[in-house]
Amino acid sequence: MIITISGVPGAGKTTVGKILAKKLGYEFFSMGDIRGRIAKERGLDINQLNKIGEKEDWTDRETDEYQKKLGKRNNIVVESRLAYHFIPHSVKIFLEVDPKTGAERVMKTERDDERYESIEETMEALEKRMESDRKRYKKYYGIDFPDKSKFDLVIDTTDKTPEQVVNIILDFIKNKYSS
Ligand code: ADP
Ligand code: MG
Repeated sequence: MIITISGVPGAGKTTVGKILAKKLGYEFFSMGDIRGRIAKERGLDINQLNKIGEKEDWTDRETDEYQKKLGKRNNIVVESRLAYHFIPHSVKIFLEVDPKTGAERVMKTERDDERYESIEETMEALEKRMESDRKRYKKYYGIDFPDKSKFDLVIDTTDKTPEQVVNIILDFIKNKYSS
């Protein structure tokens, strides 16, 4: 089984994906890390890379190819906005969070490539990033993101701990594959 985790910034995709993979004994892959690396290799930060990506398609191509290859494997968890698209046979999870809570979580996270002074600034930056991503997905893939109907399970993580979210996913998988 392949589990793909999509969702909005700060929803807990990385956190939940890692715990889930560990519990299942699966390998975990994060496309956010790969995009970050592509940016870094070119002396850009993630927002600058996204800006370029609105006009040029090379910023996405590398991750796309990588995900298609992952789709041929088994027993993995993949964190990626578009993995549900490139790995259509996966169990497709979408994690949501209230924008303010998402911004608070991102702000609390120590990341050298992403630093904001206030919650307002963080919320604005995340909203801009979502909008930029949306444009890219529309332009290059004709995808309306996020179209929730494409997912097997949608979870609002606002009032849940990562462990609770993981348990919801595990229950879902158990029910889906035991009947
Ligand atoms: P995403 O990958 O969706 O952007 P992360 O997993 O990187 O989100 O989580 C962002 C921050 O929020 C991390 O510091 C993480 O520890 C924290 N976090 C994640 N999920 C939760 C949760 N359910 N409740 C509280 N904090 C969370
Ligand atoms: Mg992440």
